[in-house]
Amino acid sequence: MSLLELKNVGVKYGVIPAIQRINLKVEQGQIVSLIGANGAGKTTTLKSVVGVLKPFQGQIFYQGEEITSKPAPWRVRKGICLVPEGRGIFNRLSVKENLLIGAYHRQNEVEIQKDLEMVYNLFPRLKERENQIAGTLSGGEQQMLALGRGLMSRPQLMLLDEPSLGLAPLVVKELYELIQEIRKKGVTILLVEQNAVMAIKVSDYVYVLETGEVKMEGPPEEIESLEDVRRVYLGG
Ligand code: ATP
Repeated sequence: MSLLELKNVGVKYGVIPAIQRINLKVEQGQIVSLIGANGAGKTTTLKSVVGVLKPFQGQIFYQGEEITSKPAPWRVRKGICLVPEGRGIFNRLSVKENLLIGAYHRQNEVEIQKDLEMVYNLFPRLKERENQIAGTLSGGEQQMLALGRGLMSRPQLMLLDEPSLGLAPLVVKELYELIQEIRKKGVTILLVEQNAVMAIKVSDYVYVLETGEVKMEGPPEEIESLEDVRRVYLGG
């Protein structure tokens, strides 16, 4: 049984379909990436998984259960977490306050404290800056904060939307090492990136989206070697 499966999923904005017939699977413990140009439907796909957008067709299964019409808060409680593009952190709150917001639906204070320590161990820079106002963090630190806040929800499945957007190459490298650390903790990751080179490198499986549909899919070595992918997404 896959941790996540999308069967024939389509989502419209008004009457215009943004994605149509998306079929994909994410196995437990994997990093799977969705790559594709601007507007291909990557963000829309993630939003349908977390439940902020409802499909007009198709089905979504999580841990073997159909969740297509479950509300977003239910999905969060079941361990699905979206780290949105642009990070969505609260600029005027401190680092620690932002992290605690990630655990808003949890009650066990002891467990929450434990997870806070886990996040600080993973991102020592956040620990050093726990009382700093989040809006004054660097771009890379803000992305770490967004990942840390996601982890505070105790996710089984993390959906990462363009985590490398706007970050310098060295910071991206560091961030990707952290993403692999998160996977080692047992969290499954569905990753959306325009920075296809990095995403493919860390992935177990890759889907290429074009105009709202899966155009190609396969293990990273296979996807990397495709002429079309090299030309369009990997800069030749
Ligand atoms: P990007 O990397 O630019 O975010 P993407 O692959 O994530 O691209 P989506 O954001 O999922 O693509 O967008 C898919 C399609 O849906 C695009 O044609 C886009 O213009 C359209 N779309 C996205 N959001 C909306 C919205 N709120 N209202 C109307 N159309 C939208």
